[in-house]
Amino acid sequence: MRVANADGRAVLITGEGIVDIAAASGGLLPANPQLVYGRWDKLRALADRAPAATGPLDVTALRAPVPAPRQVFAIGMNYAAHAAEAGVEEPTFPPTFTKFPPCLTGPEATVALPSEFVDWEVELVVVIAHRAYEVPEGHGWSYVAGVTVGQDLSERIVQTRPPAPQFSLGKSFPGFGPTGPWVVTSDELDDPDDLALSCAVNGEEVQKSRTSDLIFGVDALINRLSSITPLLPGDLIFTGTPSGVGGTRTPPRFLAPGDELVSTIEGIGTIHTHLVARSKNHDR
Ligand code: ZN
Repeated sequence: MRVANADGRAVLITGEGIVDIAAASGGLLPANPQLVYGRWDKLRALADRAPAATGPLDVTALRAPVPAPRQVFAIGMNYAAHAAEAGVEEPTFPPTFTKFPPCLTGPEATVALPSEFVDWEVELVVVIAHRAYEVPEGHGWSYVAGVTVGQDLSERIVQTRPPAPQFSLGKSFPGFGPTGPWVVTSDELDDPDDLALSCAVNGEEVQKSRTSDLIFGVDALINRLSSITPLLPGDLIFTGTPSGVGGTRTPPRFLAPGDELVSTIEGIGTIHTHLVARSKNHDR
């Protein structure tokens, strides 16, 4: 099953087009794409009935599939090669920060660069379906609605400035959370713990890895995070980025106005992020 946000309405993506979830359920399920994750079993039942498409798929109408989660968890240093390039020891517990939810944007986003120090980080993003608290290892995936493609855009100065680095703020400028194009359930993936992921800047591949290289995979992350705080339906987990970011290169390389960032995960899809200069009178 594939769930998306088409111009603000929750839809299923089928071979024939889109199914408007509220319309196809006769109003039983909400139109709000955020709220369908609180009705996950009812949504699965609707999809199992294979409702007829209610319209064509227009990819330009797709927005952030999970637009307003209550919590967004993001994990640092979760690939050994990325920890090594950052000069950091491999963690024994997932280093965790948040991306404040207003930073989320969709699969075809234009993002204004707040500085000359914005970096790319392609990531597998997990969407939670059921309240998860103190989940034993081996049970994590049963709390997952599905997965999507994400970019954990990062302003490295704010993120790392001493004496108290601010990961959450440095990764939460407007548009710093591109996601999409849809949420794919794990039963659609050959092996949901081994997905190729990559990203390219202006056609040049800069990151390439597999989620099987995660230090803490999806199951382990749900176990560790839920040992401390409940994960709620519709929450996101940005699971961490592989090696190949720009800031640790010699010389460092960052995103510039006019750049196009293309991020792909096997079995899910591709998102495009267009970087532009920040205008002096941008929307606040
Ligand atoms: Zn990240």
